[in-house]
Amino acid sequence: MASKKDQLQVWNNCLSVIKDNVSPQGFKTWFEPIKPVKLENSILTIQVPSQFFYEWLEEHYVTLLKKIIKKELGAEGRLEYSIIMDNNNHPYTIKVPTSDRKATKNAPVAMPLDLGESPIKNPFIIPGLRKIQVDSNLNPNYSFENFIEGDSNRLARSAGFAVANKPGGTAFNPLLIYGGVGLGKTHLAHAIGLEIKAKSPEKTVLYVSSEKFTHQFIDAVKNNTVNDFSHFYQMMDVLIIDDVQFFSGKEKTQDVFFHIFNHLHQTGKQIILTSDKPPVEMQGMEQRLLSRFKWGLSADLQVPSLETRIAILRKKMYADGIELPEEVVEYLGYSITTNIRELEGALISLIAQASLNKKNINLELARQMIDKFVKNTAREVSIDYIQKVVCDYFDLPIELLKSKTRKREIVQARQIAMYFAKKMTKSSLASIGAHCGGKDHATVLHACRTVNNLQETDKHFRKYLEDLEKKLSIA
Ligand code: ADP
Ligand code: MG
Repeated sequence: MASKKDQLQVWNNCLSVIKDNVSPQGFKTWFEPIKPVKLENSILTIQVPSQFFYEWLEEHYVTLLKKIIKKELGAEGRLEYSIIMDNNNHPYTIKVPTSDRKATKNAPVAMPLDLGESPIKNPFIIPGLRKIQVDSNLNPNYSFENFIEGDSNRLARSAGFAVANKPGGTAFNPLLIYGGVGLGKTHLAHAIGLEIKAKSPEKTVLYVSSEKFTHQFIDAVKNNTVNDFSHFYQMMDVLIIDDVQFFSGKEKTQDVFFHIFNHLHQTGKQIILTSDKPPVEMQGMEQRLLSRFKWGLSADLQVPSLETRIAILRKKMYADGIELPEEVVEYLGYSITTNIRELEGALISLIAQASLNKKNINLELARQMIDKFVKNTAREVSIDYIQKVVCDYFDLPIELLKSKTRKREIVQARQIAMYFAKKMTKSSLASIGAHCGGKDHATVLHACRTVNNLQETDKHFRKYLEDLEKKLSIA
């Protein structure tokens, strides 16, 4: 094993030759920062500050370096780079064997990993010779397979699928997926990334939240490594940035993202973004960035329909091997309407409750749980649920109740549904009417009066109302 003096000596000899062959500025920028770290078996290992630095050397000085190394160490002489990457604030060293030939773009080379004394805690990047390997940060559960298709997500889902089949090769670049909280933006973004990785494993795909991106950027500014930061992101084939609304008001971050965006877009790389609002409603976002967001396709995720909600619940139950009474599944689907995460959360709490208290999962338990879980907002039953309970009770198809038909028994059931909707929800007369066969507010008012009159005069009718009220009231 060679002593420290040897590698220093060898490198100093190299430097003196290099100095005569490159510009003073080039020498200062590209050679002064290099540290010789090891000399072993005619292999000189030099430490460089970044992947970009290493690539620059290989690009511009490889011929010179090769000649000098041969001169210093003989025909067997080789150069190895040790790169310090600091992407996740976990600096670590990786050795990359230098080529014995002119480096060519995209020539992948096996890369021995030496974690040495600084083990990788959170490996974000593993640089290779020309091809980098990146941990894509993709969650395997968020696949297309697990993403239930419905009217609410059809456009976004199929655009995502198209992008996954031809990243960078469709008009959907960037693809911006937007929609409210818990509607599946993150899930869909991962699904696209996973699909791309499955079809083209050689592609470099990276999922990153806007928050993480921002923090990395702030660190890069602090550590004077903004170049490395940008360079890293510019090497992606597919860049997925979640919740870009987080960039709003952060000018510097937007600026660096703007340049990364341009670079990727110009080189035909795919960009996938998610946001909780459409571009037109994004406040505090630079115009030039907003206009780029509109270059591709903006597809929204809407609130899922009842059928989709129930299908999602079933899928989840199936995946977890859980069985629940039909009426409980329906109750959940009816009660939690605007957030799939809450829907799943309710299901999980219900199962947890049941197993902790060794209770059977029945409608009663579901109601208690929903009451606690969805707090104030979903305390009120929905018009849809009232209609369902009324129709189940009278054994009528719900479509008829929502239709304009004037058949007597339907009219009566519809009036009862209107009555309970008025009594148990905060919906306006107009909106209740709209839900019940497109009636106007006067019709709803009339229905409420009729029901009130009937319950005073008709014993059977009163019984119906009492039964229904029991079914509807939350325990
Ligand atoms: P967002 O990012 O829009 O807030 P997420 O992607 O985190 O929402 O979705 C919330 C939860 O709902 C996740 O567990 C996700 O798997 C689930 N989910 C959303 N949409 C669907 C869908 N279409 N099919 C199955 N699960 C879904
Ligand atoms: Mg999300």
